[in-house]
Amino acid sequence: MEKKLYIATAIPYVNGTPHIGNALDYLLADIWTRYQKQNGHEVRFQVGTDEHGNKIAAKAAELGLTPKAYTDMTYVNFEALMKKVGASYTDFIRTTDEHHVTSVEYIWEQLKPYIYKSTYTGWYCVGHEAFFTDKEVQATNGICPDHQIPYEQVSEENYFFKTSSFTEQIRTALTDGTMQIYPDFRKLEFLELIKDGLADVSISRPKKNLTWGIPVPGDPDQIMYVWLDALANYITVLGYPDRPEWKEYWPADVQVIGKDILRFHAGIWPAMLLGLGLELPKKLLAHGFVNIGGAKISKTVGNVIDPNEIIDNYGIDAFRYFFSRHIPTLEDGDFTWEKFENAYNNELANDLGNLIQRVAGMIMKYQAGVIGEAQQAEHDMSAYHEAMEGLEFNKAIDEVWNMVRSLNQYIDNVKPWEVAKGVGKDPEAEPHLAEILAHCAGALVQIGDLLLPFLPNAASKIQEIFESGVVKLSEGVLFPKVYIHTPDPHAPKA
Ligand SMILES: [Zn+2]
Repeated sequence: MEKKLYIATAIPYVNGTPHIGNALDYLLADIWTRYQKQNGHEVRFQVGTDEHGNKIAAKAAELGLTPKAYTDMTYVNFEALMKKVGASYTDFIRTTDEHHVTSVEYIWEQLKPYIYKSTYTGWYCVGHEAFFTDKEVQATNGICPDHQIPYEQVSEENYFFKTSSFTEQIRTALTDGTMQIYPDFRKLEFLELIKDGLADVSISRPKKNLTWGIPVPGDPDQIMYVWLDALANYITVLGYPDRPEWKEYWPADVQVIGKDILRFHAGIWPAMLLGLGLELPKKLLAHGFVNIGGAKISKTVGNVIDPNEIIDNYGIDAFRYFFSRHIPTLEDGDFTWEKFENAYNNELANDLGNLIQRVAGMIMKYQAGVIGEAQQAEHDMSAYHEAMEGLEFNKAIDEVWNMVRSLNQYIDNVKPWEVAKGVGKDPEAEPHLAEILAHCAGALVQIGDLLLPFLPNAASKIQEIFESGVVKLSEGVLFPKVYIHTPDPHAPKA
């Protein structure tokens, strides 16, 4: 039986406000999912929320709620964002789900040969809910660069997971390509990080220091540390261990994560899987960060951009377009409202929106909407497919834009409106015109197909207009121009 496809996204803590980084996870996973479905594959696409840990308990207490009541209230914010960016997910997991909790208890039991109790003293970041090595703490002058808070020296009785036992297997998997990291340079960075071996990790904390989480089976004074619980979601959501369908989907074909959590996903997570005797995920896609005008996004600076604001003003496809094409999939990218609006008005409205309008308009005007027969010169799209397979979605959509631009160029060169003047005089003119317009319509249908994973609404509009052989013009133009952050060239001069 052919394995069915599975893509998973990182599950954010529910205590925060959903941000652009979360939106990027959902968007990238969705592009991949739509592409695979378009090519005939069955895909499971997981999203979810991480609902245990001290930060959540503290926030709930502040509001006078139980942690569960608090997470019931907040997880919907993430769900709303997933829907808003058009994520066509199949599974939503919450780490407070009963099935997840019982499965994690089972996982703990299975991993017992690799679990031991010891005293741990180390540098802890409350923001990460994670320990950091002396080296890492020194390199950042004792302050977590992601959270801007000092690491605390913490000493306590913990259970440990012998991640160190799996160093060789993980190194081999990364080297022979069983588990690939995209981009490749992050794989090299990770291999460098573990050159002295993976360090064992603390996987529980005493109940007095961690109140909200899954109790350790057989030792209720210890609560599972949030990472073991959270990482397990990628298999429990599929039904592991008790619902056999999980076997049809695991291993994950792609796991989408931010670059800041790669070390957990390339180290602890594979070690857990190896301890359970399971296969490793095939590809880890570590995307970069979105900066704002060259600066890191920070709540204190106040340069946070709200994906909702973009989508409300420009539409969902505009959001998907900018973040799939102008934010490189595997690197850091930069957002400014000017860049965004220029891309919207010049590329979506002019290059694509006008092109559709122009071609449909000419077919209506010269041929009463009837699209003639064309010799289909199929564009060679191997570069597009290679980019999709290589998880460089920005390069794939660049390829589509090359087609859009050359079709515009083609129309400017052959000037169908000039050819139309000859109809009735020159017997060659009518078939020639029909041929030109049919070529344009055919190319647009192909462009629509290739855009489907990226701009699902525009793609279906293109199909609607051109696919039946008779142009159907619907209400409203695609991508009407918007000038909120840049000057409107047509505005009356003051
Ligand atoms: Zn931190």
